[in-house]
Amino acid sequence: MMRAVRGSASRSLLVALLLLGALLQAQSTPPTPLTLISREGRRLVPTTMSSGQELIALDDVASLFQVVVREDTLAGGLTITYRGRTVVLSTNQPMASVNGRIVALPSPPTRSGGRWLVPVEFLPRALGPIYDERIDLRRPSRLLIVGDLRVPRVTARIDAPGPPTRATLEIAPASPVTVTTEAGRVVLRVEADALDLGLPADGGGLISQIRAGDQPGTVAVVLESRAGVARAVPADANGVTRVAIEVAPAATAAAPLSPPPAAPPADAPAPPIAVTPRAGLLTIVIDPGHGGGDPGVRGAGGTEEKQITLEVARRLRTLIEMRLGIRVLLTRNEDRALSLDDRAAIANNSKADLFLSLHANAAPVARVAGAEVFHLRLDREGEEARRAAETEAVSLPVLGGARRTIEVIRWDLAQARHVDTSAALATILEEGLRAHVAMSVRPRRQAQLRILTGVDMPAALIEMAYLTNADQERQARSDAFQGGVAQGIYEAVLRFRSYLEEHREP
Ligand SMILES: [Zn+2]
Repeated sequence: MMRAVRGSASRSLLVALLLLGALLQAQSTPPTPLTLISREGRRLVPTTMSSGQELIALDDVASLFQVVVREDTLAGGLTITYRGRTVVLSTNQPMASVNGRIVALPSPPTRSGGRWLVPVEFLPRALGPIYDERIDLRRPSRLLIVGDLRVPRVTARIDAPGPPTRATLEIAPASPVTVTTEAGRVVLRVEADALDLGLPADGGGLISQIRAGDQPGTVAVVLESRAGVARAVPADANGVTRVAIEVAPAATAAAPLSPPPAAPPADAPAPPIAVTPRAGLLTIVIDPGHGGGDPGVRGAGGTEEKQITLEVARRLRTLIEMRLGIRVLLTRNEDRALSLDDRAAIANNSKADLFLSLHANAAPVARVAGAEVFHLRLDREGEEARRAAETEAVSLPVLGGARRTIEVIRWDLAQARHVDTSAALATILEEGLRAHVAMSVRPRRQAQLRILTGVDMPAALIEMAYLTNADQERQARSDAFQGGVAQGIYEAVLRFRSYLEEHREP
């Protein structure tokens, strides 16, 4: 549980952040997991690269597709059986025997850390023919489609930079499309189970980018700030849906199309000092709530919040570090007390790109249940800090004649300039958690939480369950529930990373 605290006028510690030094070294990351899409939903399937081949572990294949894998050491092969039908894999030849027919694979199976790994092509080429449902591997878009699902391919091109700028999106096979116009963008919602996106890296003219939308099944055409009215007209022909988009420049007298409230007008001069944006997601701080003499909420069955938060934090760290190669720090990794300011300081000093505080909740009514995601609501002082945030950078001379930018911000208002990103984060977290655990009737909420005001990065606080609800208290200790919360947050982190990359300033 986390009580809302008025954050105003509490402390005025100053923190100086060296932003130009904040670009950390690039890390080598494992391949983006494949997204398996089936009638049952989506799940991520990890793969590894070895000698240029993308490999999947056979034990993952066994659990995903309900097949039985056996190693036949005498014959030097592996058998994969599904409902009495069998694939035999040779352990030293790049091939498999499927129902007595030989199919080629890019490489033979390899053994690594006690697991057998096979090239991902094994799935459509060898497993597909003996499986009940179609297995469609679309490697460029990282999709593994199982069953007869509608996953149209969406491509886009800029036809003329203009103005007016003209672009065409093609959806194949033809699918119903709804077009909406939001602040600075046109959003296409395609009726489909999922989208297979082949979008250009760059925009052109008045279109800055065409990319996946924030919601599944959507594509966003992001407009330049000097863009005016945009029109989009879908039409079907030859089994393909084409959406013609035309973007006119902003009329000099008219206001730009619904600018976001905090953004300066399009014709305002650029701020005097350029602040280097912090790109991507390199470091995450996870904050297990409470600890030591502060147990947090205690359920009727004796379950303590401080223990659940630490257990889930550790699971989450393992999941994120192993699959994404992102550095994860815990504010505490043992049962000890830690002040809210110390927790925020750990996040700020490690220059984390994301801060997640884990809690479990309490309610006076026992039936209240479900997970909730909190992000910061600014009070008036916070709103002023947000407006001021753009100009609070100072340029200082350094040795050698260069200058570098230092941002000086009040510790207790550090979150102010991240509120919009944190609101997006909260939405993504809510969706991630919803796929795995029960949500409360008000799953996303804003509050003035002291732990969030002090962190200088996108941040959210997650109340995983109500320990005052007997069912939820029992669940909270279970492997299934803790694993579900960790998986939901992990999937949200993955999506939030894409969100950050898409919203990176040019
Ligand atoms: Zn708490």
